[in-house]
Amino acid sequence: ALMITDECINCDVCEPECPNDAIYMGVEIYEIDPNKCTECVGHFDEPQCVQICPVECIPLNPAWEESKEQLHAKYERLTATK
Ligand code: SF4
Ligand code: SF4
Repeated sequence: ALMITDECINCDVCEPECPNDAIYMGVEIYEIDPNKCTECVGHFDEPQCVQICPVECIPLNPAWEESKEQLHAKYERLTATK
């Protein structure tokens, strides 16, 4: 999963781009729910939020390192429960 750092300027552009609805407004800045972020695996070749973020504040979440297989399994789980 990816994460949003405190460099976030709350510009709002990433939230509607996420195919998994993983991005939400937190207490002060936007946040990513790691249970929902597939790094866009299953939807797009590149993470859409990273592509669009003007301040490049969306790195990999070091606490949530996942393989492509794990990310794809998460995608399958998320789409199965929709
Ligand atoms: Fe959503 Fe993709 Fe960004 Fe993860 S990488 S938060 S799934 S847009
Ligand atoms: Fe924050 Fe970047 Fe999302 Fe804008 S695009 S709200 S700066 S994380």
